Amino acid sequence: MSDRTLIIVKPDGVQRKFVGEIMSRFEKKGFKLVGAKFMQVTEDLASKHYAVHKGKPFFDGVVKYLASSPVMVMVWEADGIIPMARKMMGATFGFNAEPGTIRGDFSCSKGYNLIHGSDSPESAEYEIGLYFSNNELVDYSFADEDWLYGQND
Ligand code: UDP
Ligand code: MG
Repeated sequence: MSDRTLIIVKPDGVQRKFVGEIMSRFEKKGFKLVGAKFMQVTEDLASKHYAVHKGKPFFDGVVKYLASSPVMVMVWEADGIIPMARKMMGATFGFNAEPGTIRGDFSCSKGYNLIHGSDSPESAEYEIGLYFSNNELVDYSFADEDWLYGQND
């Protein structure tokens, strides 16, 4: 099985109608959607999600932000997806993110940056487990995998 990452279209992304745009970018890249859930995150779940940032000045704010309105939570799969998805998201703050990235194209905010993506295999495993049980993640093949993932060596 190839690598998996947790992606969330955050509250501002849903309110600003970027769910389709963001899913479309990942689909066009060739990532495989293996799980999805449209939901309201509680502050308790948001605190677990951002546990790594506990004690930082923005912790309370980011917990409230993630729980402020519904989100689209997804698991996407591809070899090497974790750094690839992070590159497509762009730098953390919208005003720093490069054009061509999701945050760079659609956000100029500091903390309201549309999207979350896991930053390591360990955080992906932890984060996926917070939102999904194993039977909610689907194993399947694309008919055109040779064309999507072909290599010459
Ligand atoms: N954040 C914020 N202020 C900060 C740093 C982070 O509001 O000074 C928020 C922002 O929404 C960010 C999230 O906290 O996406 C998690 O921060 P992290 O450094 O993990 O950034 P990311 O992995 O999302 O790029
Ligand atoms: Mg992070």
